Amino acid sequence: MAVGVCKSYPTPAEPLHVLRDLDLSLSRGQRLAIVGPSGSGKSTLLNILSTLDAPTAGQVRIDSEDPYALSAKALARFRAGRIGFVFQDHHLLPQCTAMENVLIPKLALGRANRDDIARAGELLESVGLTDRQTHLPSELSGGERQRVAIARALMNDPSLLLCDEPTGNLDARTSAGVADLLIRLSEHRVLIAATHSESLAQRLGERRALIEGHLQ
Ligand code: ADP
Ligand code: MG
Repeated sequence: MAVGVCKSYPTPAEPLHVLRDLDLSLSRGQRLAIVGPSGSGKSTLLNILSTLDAPTAGQVRIDSEDPYALSAKALARFRAGRIGFVFQDHHLLPQCTAMENVLIPKLALGRANRDDIARAGELLESVGLTDRQTHLPSELSGGERQRVAIARALMNDPSLLLCDEPTGNLDARTSAGVADLLIRLSEHRVLIAATHSESLAQRLGERRALIEGHLQ
């Protein structure tokens, strides 16, 4: 999945080396918590795996493909079809209902049809929000918004689900519910979550610490 990945950012003095020769290999059904201090490069790594930010050196492979070798248009399609992302802040569109937000990844691949609307309804049901479909994000609680964001991330049935501090803004009880959902809905996918939450890391099972640019 990642082989010899390096990421440096230019600075006025010398380059800041955030990831140094990092390797990571996961297959479907595996779940990994990435822990490590703030600023250690967790978000940088997730951005590289999400095909949003090319590594400075090294290779990324997702479903045996090198996404960074694709044209911009093919890469956008690849990302929309294969990768789901859940952020610390839900990043829902405020003017769209829960249902519309869940359908957004479909719109990135074309139009949403009847089957897509049915699937969005099923996903909202699976996150326990059937009766909130027509609510705007401002009419939902923090935990409910994050559940919509999870349903949205799963809309295109991604093989890779990346979560950047998915419970960072939630209280302990709500976090436990979100962790349960992530585990239940990622059964046949690769799930990687960067987290400061000890309980989320424990629930995911496998855990690696990002320290000085390496996964320990
Ligand atoms: P984490 O998610 O573990 O808190 P980040 O991946 O956000 O860490 O950041 C790792 C390091 O890279 C930090 O020192 C941060 O300041 C730096 N960094 C992140 N993005 C950029 C950027 N676009 N340009 C320069 N430095 C960056
Ligand atoms: Mg981060």
